[in-house]
Amino acid sequence: MSLIVQKFGGTSVADVEKIRAAARKAIRAQREGHRVVLVVSAMGKNTDGLLQLASEVSENPPAREMDMLLSTGEQVSVALVAMAIHELGARAVSLTGGQIGMKTDNSFSRARIQSISTERIERLLDQGNIVVAAGFQGTDDDLNITTLGRGGSDTTAVALAAVLGADSCEIYTDVDGIYTTDPRRLPEARRVEVISYDEMLELASLGAGVMHNRSIEFAKKFGVPIHVRSSFSDTSGTMIVAEPESTSQPVSGAAMTADEARVTVLGVPDVPGKSYQVFSAIAERKIAVDMVVQNVGKAGRADISFTVPRGELTATLQAVESVMDEVGADGLTHDDQVSKVSVVGMNMASQTNVAARMFRALADASVNIQMITTSEIKISTLVARSDATLALRAVHDAFSLHQKPSDAKTWSQIKAERGERADVDALVSRLRNDALEALTLTGISVTDHQARITLHGVPDYPGIAADMFETIGAAGIFVDMIVQGYDGEDAATSVSFTVDADDLAKSLEVAREIYKQHQMRDVQGTGDIAKVTVSGIGLRSHTNVATKLFHELAESDINVEMINTSELQVNAVIDAKFASTAAERLKVAFAPALH
Ligand code: ADP
Ligand code: ASP
Ligand code: MG
Repeated sequence: MSLIVQKFGGTSVADVEKIRAAARKAIRAQREGHRVVLVVSAMGKNTDGLLQLASEVSENPPAREMDMLLSTGEQVSVALVAMAIHELGARAVSLTGGQIGMKTDNSFSRARIQSISTERIERLLDQGNIVVAAGFQGTDDDLNITTLGRGGSDTTAVALAAVLGADSCEIYTDVDGIYTTDPRRLPEARRVEVISYDEMLELASLGAGVMHNRSIEFAKKFGVPIHVRSSFSDTSGTMIVAEPESTSQPVSGAAMTADEARVTVLGVPDVPGKSYQVFSAIAERKIAVDMVVQNVGKAGRADISFTVPRGELTATLQAVESVMDEVGADGLTHDDQVSKVSVVGMNMASQTNVAARMFRALADASVNIQMITTSEIKISTLVARSDATLALRAVHDAFSLHQKPSDAKTWSQIKAERGERADVDALVSRLRNDALEALTLTGISVTDHQARITLHGVPDYPGIAADMFETIGAAGIFVDMIVQGYDGEDAATSVSFTVDADDLAKSLEVAREIYKQHQMRDVQGTGDIAKVTVSGIGLRSHTNVATKLFHELAESDINVEMINTSELQVNAVIDAKFASTAAERLKVAFAPALH
């Protein structure tokens, strides 16, 4: 008998009528012959209400008590949903996180799932019940109640689908699927019929709040197809699966994190180990850092800039201040009026000029780009918060995201092409079931024969990045990594990018043209660099990956010259002569996580 997991988000159980509607959906599925597990979130904005209450009692509530409080929201809704099912003539049992054996670590408010025991759920299902499980919560080894982080009910649902071997996982929410960007921000956004795990993971981690990013890690690791659909209409929704909708369009979605903050550590001695000191202090607090840009050192000192969610700014500044002396940095600045606007696409790695197109769109909208980081499947820019929606619209337009790509495939076409292919869930059998959310790496590799160009004193006004990368693209040069960050001097920024070593001379020539044209301060080129890549799943949310990489390289006296992170890869640019030492060392250090 097939098993379905259905998850209802807050708005889908916001009032009694909606609770009844959810109960009816579950009963309908049961009557169609499925075993049904429901995962339910707190009603409406209940979690926000609880947070508000806590803030009225305490400025800095103990994390344990916060989770105790927040978990009550889900407990209310599971009981009501189970009652509604009874009332409609079917059988249901509600269960808390503890009762479904959802074991987590003890990081309150961001706990990770370790294991789930399925016996009780299976037994209740065998007895003909619909099981109604509380989302977002678990218990640690000491039976303390923990929560998984805002939006975490999605992760409960997909994790249950994974361990129960469910045939489908349906996420019922207040939109009728995944859109090319948040349809509440841009009404012109298009609903996609299919989106790949990798794209959804990256989009979720870059601000698309429709799915909890960690739920997509589960889906990818265990090959769970997710069906996102509306609680209120019968439209077909979106399938999140291994394959993308199109194999040609460079960008498939855009996302924005409105509330970001930039932090810059000024004048960090440019010797191995300094970045490690800064980032390990932050990682200890489990704060996810993004857009790390380290300027190439001047006079033996470098500036390190990065972004964090605005809500984590205070904790981040405290963390950095606690190591300032040890690091020997000159100063610390921040800006909390910034937003991150990103584009994501599986196919961008194989196409030229994708970044230039994005930068041109922003320039045409007169949006100044403060920072840039790219990785194989995403480009992120940091802009003033007042420009953010304008910027999002500009890039959405530039990549025609409102239009269906000509080679778009439907879910049934993809399924038909899959045939009996078994590799979709190949990772599952190799994963241990007692550490469900443990870091999962798939490889460590080196790309040799790289070169890096750096321009200092790049004027900080709209259009420069667009001009630069259009000119470079027009010269037929394929650019891999791009970073732009604060330069500390002259209200300017510095831009570095990597190219194939064979393109070094040509790139330098083009860079010198740009340098003259825009009166920059300096241009440098270096051959003989290499890129070390750690690949896996959920690398940004596992905050310790980049830190560990910094640590291991520092221990071998290797300087990290550039770094970028995505959910799929962490890339570090280092001196080529250290490349194999670095790769060997990382393989040993990350061995327990390598699959
Ligand atoms: P739930 O309470 O059901 O978990 P959420 O509020 O967490 O619902 O997620 C649904 C919301 O996500 C939508 O109302 C929409 O505004 C927002 N959203 C953000 N990005 C996207 C996107 N790319 N596609 C669809 N919805 C999005
Ligand atoms: N109720 C929790 C929240 O509001 C979990 C969830 O809805 O997924 O974040
Ligand atoms: Mg949600």
